[in-house]
Amino acid sequence: MGSSGGNRTVHSLGRAWRGCEFTAPVQFGRKIMNIAVAPGLLGAEAAAFLRGKHQMLIDGKWVDSQSGKAFDVFDPADGQKITSVPEAGQADVDLAVAAARKAFDHGPWTRITPTERSVIIWRLADLLDRHGDELSQIESVDNGKSASQARAVDVGFGVDLLRYMAGWCTKIGGDVIPMSVPGDWHAYTLREPVGVCAQIVPWNFPLLMAIWKIAPAFAAGCTVVLKPAEQTPLSAIRLGQIIQEAGFPDGVFNVVTGDGRVGAALVDHPDVDKVAFTGSTEVGKLIVKGSAGNLKKVSVELGGKSPQIVFPDADLDHTISGTASGIFFNSGQCCTAGSRIYAHKSIFDKLMAGLADEASKLKIGRGLLPDTDIGPVISQEQFDKVSGYLEAGKRDGAEVVTGGERWGTEGYFIKPTVFAHTNPQMSIVREEIFGPVVCAMPFDDDQLEAIALEANNTPFGLGASIWTRDAGIAHKLARKIKAGTVWVNAHLTNDVALPFGGFKQSGWGREMGREAIDLYTQVKSVAMRL
Ligand code: NAP
Ligand code: MG
Repeated sequence: MGSSGGNRTVHSLGRAWRGCEFTAPVQFGRKIMNIAVAPGLLGAEAAAFLRGKHQMLIDGKWVDSQSGKAFDVFDPADGQKITSVPEAGQADVDLAVAAARKAFDHGPWTRITPTERSVIIWRLADLLDRHGDELSQIESVDNGKSASQARAVDVGFGVDLLRYMAGWCTKIGGDVIPMSVPGDWHAYTLREPVGVCAQIVPWNFPLLMAIWKIAPAFAAGCTVVLKPAEQTPLSAIRLGQIIQEAGFPDGVFNVVTGDGRVGAALVDHPDVDKVAFTGSTEVGKLIVKGSAGNLKKVSVELGGKSPQIVFPDADLDHTISGTASGIFFNSGQCCTAGSRIYAHKSIFDKLMAGLADEASKLKIGRGLLPDTDIGPVISQEQFDKVSGYLEAGKRDGAEVVTGGERWGTEGYFIKPTVFAHTNPQMSIVREEIFGPVVCAMPFDDDQLEAIALEANNTPFGLGASIWTRDAGIAHKLARKIKAGTVWVNAHLTNDVALPFGGFKQSGWGREMGREAIDLYTQVKSVAMRL
């Protein structure tokens, strides 16, 4: 396991998989697992890491919390304790911010050349790739997700993004500006790093969300304090070890573990210059308010209730597998999960039957098992929340096409669920469920205006997909949809170069692509009278 040849094969399959808009996690997942990971087994490296002591990284040193307090981390497949990690308090946050401040204000990090920074970030990508099997297994145990999917997506995409952002280090420049005021002037802009960044990430893609945040921050020359979600701190700790191995100077990357209070302490901290957050809209609003003290730069990537709109001319086989992955991938715990399906009445029943068939083929189980497609949801709290929506849907009169209940008797597994003939008054249609649950509604009015009105009937605006063979319909509707990303004949496919973020209450700012560099830099104008 883990030979570089094997990894390369896995990696290219990962690419293929992402390239085909998550349409076939089932088949690709199995192939990857057969090649890369001994079936059902935790590799020696992941096992050694999980057995070891887990600490926080502050100023290049691995430390417990100042208070000595710790909290337990659980495996969502059985609810059993895996290990414990330090519970940070204000004193730890102060130390981590001070370390990041020192590394930014005085450290070698901001003095080395862009090429040197690029080399270190690229080295980190290589190391993550080399440790990819181990990282995906750690992620699988901590989060519950399929290890093979984590290898392809969480690790594979993370590696790609680090390499993409490493390329930006040498390309962050300003402009020469022609001035019109009287006199002879030479004026130009500099694009400088914003400084110390607090990065607060959720539990659905713990490692990948951390990399989405650190990659552009490092490329821009910022320093970071990362706070992983309390449910899933382990891959962030392993990431810290690998960042050290890659040769990042002390204090450039710090990890503090704890719950929302630790996030709030970072958001409130006067020495933090920028906050980047991914999570719920509710907490996103708290982050915006909390950042006002010293007017931190803020980017937030929040919730969604993304529509998948299916026209009668769509390639139905492709649409069935694509819309199914669009909602069920990662047990529906994706911010862009396609959780509302609007399908033309002429193909509605066929689509429902197809989705039920897809759902029945998905193998539910522990993420480490080689044939698992769908793991548990993250915690008892999320299990209760999603189960509550299942009950609400039935109570409100939605038709259960498939699923609608838990799977098994232990752990937090929920059957992939399709509710049909739902309506916009139902809470399952209005609210973000964040589980493997989709609501489907037929439409018979072919007016794009009316369809867009329905699709946009939500406070969110993260993603949307349109399934049709008619390019005219696709592009016309794409313009009417209020969402940060509109896919056509695909859902969920992200790319390192494609800006990603939310309209409306789905967030501020765009991650990935050139826009991500803008989040971590600010413009300085220099005007010289000659
Ligand atoms: P959440 O509370 O928004 O958590 C996201 C991150 O923010 C975690 O690291 C969390 O810490 C931290 N946090 C919580 N309160 C904070 C505060 N006042 N100040 C600063 N940071 C704070 O998400 P959740 O409670 O885990 O999940 C609730 C719902 O959020 C889900 O059901 C789902 O609808 C949505 N969600 C969305 C995404 C997404 O990708 N957009 C991801 C996850 C969840 P702790 O978790 O350690 O307390
Ligand atoms: Mg929370």
